[in-house]
Amino acid sequence: HAKVGGKNHSRFFEKSMSRNLMRRREIEAELRAAIQRDELSIFFQPIIDLATGRIRTFEALVRWFHPEKGELRPDEFIPVAEETGVIVTLGNWITAQAARAAVHWPEDVTLAVNLSPMQIRAPGAALGILTALRDAGLAPSRLELEVTESLFLDDNQSTANFINELSAAGIRFALDDFGTGYSSLGSIHKFPFSKIKVDRSFVSGANVGRKSEAIIRAVAEMGARLDMEIVAEGLETVDQVRAVRATGCTLGQGYYFSRAVPDYLAAMLIAQEREGAPMRASA
Ligand code: C2E
Ligand code: MG
Ligand code: MG
Ligand code: MG
Repeated sequence: HAKVGGKNHSRFFEKSMSRNLMRRREIEAELRAAIQRDELSIFFQPIIDLATGRIRTFEALVRWFHPEKGELRPDEFIPVAEETGVIVTLGNWITAQAARAAVHWPEDVTLAVNLSPMQIRAPGAALGILTALRDAGLAPSRLELEVTESLFLDDNQSTANFINELSAAGIRFALDDFGTGYSSLGSIHKFPFSKIKVDRSFVSGANVGRKSEAIIRAVAEMGARLDMEIVAEGLETVDQVRAVRATGCTLGQGYYFSRAVPDYLAAMLIAQEREGAPMRASA
């Protein structure tokens, strides 16, 4: 035991460690049952064309409504699902559910699904995605898979195979949370991304300003040259929308437009927008 902080400090540390561990164990056990118990559902957040206010994509975001713990955020249980391998079953279920909702949308509205690195490296990962699409009757060209830079930390052949195989099948890839990880330019160079999502930290809070605007502008310019679309994540205010639009970034996502909503509300948002009420286009 470290002497620093004394006995009380390390006791406190041990206690909070084991509480943390217990909560993780609990989550692991319950996560396996949660799908059967119908506690999980998929919500959808729109990604908006900043020039027209039209909905271009819905991103699927998993939600867990636990009977005792209340709503658990994916940031809390996705890491546990990854560590324990549950993510493979969970991920296939998420893709299948999301695809089933997306078949009811107009054909020009695409579906984005997040994938964790472990899910991608599991045997049969590509087949799992293709099977989910086929069962739902959703064309591969309507699916976009969001991956993060952490996927490329170690040069993994199974990752490259996965991306190449699904790209050949017509599925597109987006690089999520851009700017927060490592090896970004290397992975953009190496893999066929059609979209880059600039992390929320460049748009929101203390970071708004000349510096982050310049960064988004540079990424937007790179996107235009490489034929990739750029999404600004985390747009919460009209000022942020205007600032981001002025950088040349064409797509936006955030609470300003809508939070993630259940499938029936997603369908309603599309219907409203198609009836001539663009998503806050007056910004
Ligand atoms: P992400 O893929 O970057 O998703 C965007 C997150 O930002 C979502 O959080 C969304 O609700 C939140 N967000 C959107 N607009 C705003 C805004 O204007 N302000 C703020 N403060 N937040 C905003 P969520 O749903 O809690 O998900 C967190 C992360 O968990 C996701 O980040 C993704 O990495 C992971 N995740 C969520 N669903 C799934 C899934 O089905 N599979 C996997 N593998 N990961 C998922
Ligand atoms: Mg995402
Ligand atoms: Mg993101
Ligand atoms: Mg994220």
